[in-house]
Amino acid sequence: MPTYDFKCNKCGKVFEVRVKSDAVVNCPKCNSIDLKKLITGIGGISFIGDGFYVNDYKDKDKGQSEE
Ligand SMILES: [Zn+2]
Repeated sequence: MPTYDFKCNKCGKVFEVRVKSDAVVNCPKCNSIDLKKLITGIGGISFIGDGFYVNDYKDKDKGQSEE
């Protein structure tokens, strides 16, 4: 499951959550839902449509290193 970084627009806290892209996330500090999703580089993937793409990518990568 992908990990997203969020920044709270209310208190400015930056935190990391493992969620689906459509999940509702609350700030752990002030409980606000006024958050900005930060794009972070995960293995060169800058945006993720769904989990199957990530699983497929990791599988190929693992297969190569085992050879
Ligand atoms: Zn906050």
